[in-house]
Amino acid sequence: MQRAPRRRKRATWKTVFFLVVCFPYGLFLMWRTQRWHPAVKGLVTACFAALTVAVFLPMTMPPTRGGGGVRMVGAEKNVAVYGPELPASMGDGYAGYGVVSGAAAPVFSDAPEAEVTYVYANDNGKYYHLSDCKYVASYTRKYALPVAYYNGYQPCLECGAPTYVPGDAG
Ligand SMILES: [Zn+2]
Repeated sequence: MQRAPRRRKRATWKTVFFLVVCFPYGLFLMWRTQRWHPAVKGLVTACFAALTVAVFLPMTMPPTRGGGGVRMVGAEKNVAVYGPELPASMGDGYAGYGVVSGAAAPVFSDAPEAEVTYVYANDNGKYYHLSDCKYVASYTRKYALPVAYYNGYQPCLECGAPTYVPGDAG
């Protein structure tokens, strides 16, 4: 009669030991040998279940993907491109890319490429402007001069934006 409680106590320690060292076996022992309240057993089991989920669930998640891919810049007003400056001879309209050598190069045109003039116009405005005009804001769009002209804009009188004459190179 005196040995029963002691044996049960030792079994309790054994259960706790295995719960710590190897909890599946500890849980098995607990349900099998302990006369704890079912709510206690359920709580202990739930705790270990939650722990297991917390440890193993992140391993099943795909790794977070870093930024990358293609960014569509067409909808953005002015995209600043950082890098070394091109030589002045390779400015807007430069057509010499891919030319191997002067002698063997195909000649597309003897006429020098015209400089493209850019002007700035607001969506709801009537005029186009030079870049330093007071009407040019961060949301103002940039157009090549002929494009601004054919979009119905007129040269601003205050900043002296150039007038476009159809037929000119721009
Ligand atoms: Zn202006």
